[in-house]
Amino acid sequence: MSLVVQKFGGTSLADSAKILAAARTAIRTQNQGNQVVMVVSAMGKNTDVLVDLAGQINQKPPAREMDMLLSTGEQVSVALMAMAIDALGHKAISLTGAQIGIRTDSTHTKARIESISTDRMQRLLDAGNIVIAAGFQGIDDEFNITTLGRGGSDTTAVALAAVLGADSCEIYTDVDGVYTTDPRKVAEARRVQQVSYNEMLELASLGAGVMHSRSIEFAKKFSVPIHVRSSLTDIPGSMIVEQPEAPDQSVFGAAVTLDEARVTVAKVPDVPGSIIQVFSPIADRNVAVDMIVQNIGEDGLTDLSFTVPRGELPQTLEAVAEAAETLGAGPVTHDAQVAKVSAVGLGMARQTGVADQMFRALSAAGVNLEMITTSEIKISALVDEQQALNALRVIHQAFHLDQEPVAANAPAAATRPHGNAVDVVERLQGVGMEELTIDDITLDKTQARVTITNLPDTPGIAARVFEEVAEAGVFVDMIVQSFGHHGLASLSFTVPGDRLTQSVQVAESLRQRLDCGAVTSSPSVAKLSVSGIGLRSHTGVAIRMFRALADAGINVNMISTSEVRVNVVVDGPQGDDAQACLQAAFADVMR
Ligand code: ADP
Ligand code: ASP
Ligand code: MG
Repeated sequence: MSLVVQKFGGTSLADSAKILAAARTAIRTQNQGNQVVMVVSAMGKNTDVLVDLAGQINQKPPAREMDMLLSTGEQVSVALMAMAIDALGHKAISLTGAQIGIRTDSTHTKARIESISTDRMQRLLDAGNIVIAAGFQGIDDEFNITTLGRGGSDTTAVALAAVLGADSCEIYTDVDGVYTTDPRKVAEARRVQQVSYNEMLELASLGAGVMHSRSIEFAKKFSVPIHVRSSLTDIPGSMIVEQPEAPDQSVFGAAVTLDEARVTVAKVPDVPGSIIQVFSPIADRNVAVDMIVQNIGEDGLTDLSFTVPRGELPQTLEAVAEAAETLGAGPVTHDAQVAKVSAVGLGMARQTGVADQMFRALSAAGVNLEMITTSEIKISALVDEQQALNALRVIHQAFHLDQEPVAANAPAAATRPHGNAVDVVERLQGVGMEELTIDDITLDKTQARVTITNLPDTPGIAARVFEEVAEAGVFVDMIVQSFGHHGLASLSFTVPGDRLTQSVQVAESLRQRLDCGAVTSSPSVAKLSVSGIGLRSHTGVAIRMFRALADAGINVNMISTSEVRVNVVVDGPQGDDAQACLQAAFADVMR
């Protein structure tokens, strides 16, 4: 008999009528001959209400007690849902995370799932029950209640679908699918029929709140196809799958993360190891750092900028102050009024001029880019918070995301491909289902680096640089623009080694016209890419890379992070050593 996991979000359970409607959906699915596991969130905005209540009593509520409190929201929902199904004449049983046996680590308020026992659920299903599981919660080894992070019910649903070998996982929500961007922020957003795990992972972690990004890590790791659909209508929504039958679009979607903060540490000694001293204490506090940008050093000193979620700025500043003192670096400055806008697309890796197109559109709209980082499938820029929504709209327009791409998507299979996913489940149950996994560590020795220092930090500069580079027919790979110091930014990018001369000529000619600082370049750099799942959400990955490289005396020149890949650029001759030391550093998590 096939098994279906159906998850209902808060808005879809906001009142008794909605709970009964969700119950009917599950019963209908059971009547069609399926076993059904429902995963439910807290009703409506209940979790927000509880967070607010806690804040009225204690400014820094203990994380353990926060979990104790927030988990009650889902407990209300499971009980009411079981009553609803009973009222409609069917058998149902509600279970908390602990009763299911969802074991997590002890990182309160953002715990990771280690294992899930299926026996009890399977027995109850075989006895004809609809099993109703509380989303978002688990239990640690000491029987403390834990929660998985805001929006975490999606992760519970996909994880249950994975361990139960479900045939499909349906996410019922208040939109009728995945859109090219948040339809509440950009009215022209378009619903898509299919999206790949990789694009959804990036979009979710860059702000597309429709799915909890860790749920997509699960889906990718265990090959669970996800169907995102509306709880109000019957129309089919969007499928999140490994390989959508999609046309070759450069950009698939756009996202914004509004609550970001930038931190800059000035005058960090530019030697192997100093970067770790900055990031270790941050990782110890479990803060995920993003958009790491290092100004190419002058006088042996470098400026290091990065972004963190705004809510985690206080503990980040505390950590950085410690590090700066030890290193004799500083001052440490920050800006809590910034937002990150991003464009995401698998096709980006194969087309020139994508970054240029995005920068040009933003510059025409008068949006200044404070920092830029790119990876193979995404371009992110840090902008003033006030300009963020406009910037999102501008990106959406620039890539014509409102229009259906030429070759229309064909609907994907809604059922799960039974491959080796079940073996993977068995293997990972023992070591932690959300453990980091690394697929590959590659070395690319074909590239060269160009850096333009002291660029005037005004709208349009990056656009101008990449327009001219693109006109010269050069394919730019990694782009990193640092936060402007005294209004001056520095821009580094990598190009194919045999196009270095041309690229430097373009940069030199720009330097003369724009009155920037020196153009420096390196004819041979080595780009190392660590690919896997959970690279950004596991806060320690970049640290592990920096530490391994520093121990081998290798300095990192450029870095970019994404959900599925972390790239670092080091001096060309050190490439092979760097690869060997990264392989050793990640040996325990290689797939
Ligand atoms: P639920 O309570 O069902 O989990 P969420 O509020 O977490 O619902 O997620 C649904 C919301 O996600 C939508 O209402 C929409 O505003 C937002 N959203 C953000 N980005 C996207 C996107 N790319 N596609 C669809 N919805 C999005
Ligand atoms: N109720 C939790 C929250 O609001 C979990 C969820 O809805 O996914 O974050
Ligand atoms: Mg949600």
